[in-house]
Amino acid sequence: MIYGDHISDEDLALYAMRSLAPAETATVQQHLNTCGDCRGKLADILGDLSLVSLTVPQEPVPADARDRFMKRLRAESAAKPPEPIKPIRAPQEPTRSGNWFSGLGWAAAAAALLFAAYMGNTSHNLRQQLDSQRDQNAQLANQVSRSQQILDVLTSRTAKRVTLTEVKAAAQPTAHVIYEKDKGALIFVASDLRPVHADKTYELWLIPANGQAPIPAGLFRPDANGTASVVLPPLPTGVDAKAFGVTVEDAQGVTTPTLPIVMSGQ
Ligand SMILES: [Zn+2]
Repeated sequence: MIYGDHISDEDLALYAMRSLAPAETATVQQHLNTCGDCRGKLADILGDLSLVSLTVPQEPVPADARDRFMKRLRAESAAKPPEPIKPIRAPQEPTRSGNWFSGLGWAAAAAALLFAAYMGNTSHNLRQQLDSQRDQNAQLANQVSRSQQILDVLTSRTAKRVTLTEVKAAAQPTAHVIYEKDKGALIFVASDLRPVHADKTYELWLIPANGQAPIPAGLFRPDANGTASVVLPPLPTGVDAKAFGVTVEDAQGVTTPTLPIVMSGQ
């Protein structure tokens, strides 16, 4: 567990994945409370993925989400670890975000978009916070849980993947959706968006396959680079998606979409 004066990289990685036994977790936690070096190393291990979770709106996470994730993690640990997760746990592999997403096609590009937008200053801030406050550990644990959920969706083999393009005119604005129906989990990343008026917002819609009313799936506004994301918005589970659409709405958002649909994909 603790080698020499510090926790091994592998155990820190397992801790970050919440894959240690409770007793081991407690030991690591206790050490982290007193050791800035190991907190710093943990921050590196969490790295980019935590930054993603830090920079998106902190929506409430479904209560059973962690249990579902842990069940899957255990099942996959018992069987052969899947490719996308394997590099994280293999000790010889550096735990760097670049490897986490390799081979994931556009999901890597989506993650890169999020990282590029926020990496610079947030990374520094995260380290400072970690060094200065012990209770950051608890917050970090929450970020880990959220990061695991994001990773889970990004690497899912059953998730529906949809590319949305602008309905009319030159299809410059582009958005991608990964949607896991059974979990009601959705990640949306858009680029080259047109600016919206200050009192307006984009709103994402899930259009159910059963013909029922479109379900609001999050508000977003493009940043200066025209990028935006919606990560794990509150959605019901088990809804088959026929399509996804984007409308422009008043800033507070609406529950019924206002035509026209400016982006769509199915
Ligand atoms: Zn240490």
